[in-house]
Amino acid sequence: MTYEELVEVIRKLGVERYRADQILDWLYKKHVFVFEEMTNISKQHRQLLKENFSVPLPQIITKRVSSLDSTTKYLYQLEDGNTIESVLLFHEGYATACISTQVGCPVKCAFCATGQSGFVRNLSAAEIVSQVLAIEADSKQTVRNIVYMGMGEPLLNYENVLKSIRILIHERTKNLGVRRITISTVGIPDKILQLAGEGLDLNLAISLHAASDEKRDKIIPMNKKYSIEEILHAARLYQEKSDRRVTIEYILIKEFNDFDEDARRLARLLSGMKVFVNLIPINPVVTGLEKPTQWKINRFKELLIDHGIEAEVRYEKGADIEAACGQLRIRNLH
Ligand code: SF4
Repeated sequence: MTYEELVEVIRKLGVERYRADQILDWLYKKHVFVFEEMTNISKQHRQLLKENFSVPLPQIITKRVSSLDSTTKYLYQLEDGNTIESVLLFHEGYATACISTQVGCPVKCAFCATGQSGFVRNLSAAEIVSQVLAIEADSKQTVRNIVYMGMGEPLLNYENVLKSIRILIHERTKNLGVRRITISTVGIPDKILQLAGEGLDLNLAISLHAASDEKRDKIIPMNKKYSIEEILHAARLYQEKSDRRVTIEYILIKEFNDFDEDARRLARLLSGMKVFVNLIPINPVVTGLEKPTQWKINRFKELLIDHGIEAEVRYEKGADIEAACGQLRIRNLH
């Protein structure tokens, strides 16, 4: 629930408004999720809360901590038995939560374990927010950044994702700065434009992964519906409206999209945009597709920079714990 919704429902139960602040304090600051333990609330009200509400905190099935970089990957079970993944990672020293928005994913990207496992359902706003609370409660870390980059395509669960963001940025809950939240999408033009109109100025990351529709069609089936041109047109408008630099994610696959011509074409596509390109060498363990040589990776980056496009190579965090999206869940399903 949003703060306003909580105030309204407890008011209808005859509970004073200020109790909403106390409840949210227990949930978001003290990580107490059982009403009986909210000791500054009267016994009678605690009973009332217990009878009327539940906190759908996901249960940890598997937890893996990387010995390389402390990245922690959680496989959670939801109330209906479905499983999702969330990751805690450390970016520039800050705890960052990578959270899921769907059980499975309908987009079916060729390189993604989640996409291969099919789509089950959207997550509710509560299930999205509670991943952050569950991570904080277990790790004792304060999450400073949130990336909607776990399982699922966030813009295909637009309403619940938006609601979860409005909850997380509220001053009575996590009070997270909106600029600390990133939506990572495969690119759904009308939803990007809708997001631009929300006045939230979230960070936007577009998973482009190819510089031509012909190649993109082969790895992202949804590209047949929305072309690169349409996606980048929407991203341009988003960038103008938000005045935020858009991030372009580009997975580098050996002898598929790592040619000089791909880099030059990508630079042309992005010219005039305020963008930053993350080059991500593919994880061969998950995909069977091969990673380019280090020389090729560096050359691709240099070509972009030579053409005036800011770019960096990002290596996968938690490489020793199957931190790539969908890996743990798939293992659990088999
Ligand atoms: S990469 Fe993202 S959008 Fe593509 S199938 Fe996986 S979860 Fe879905």
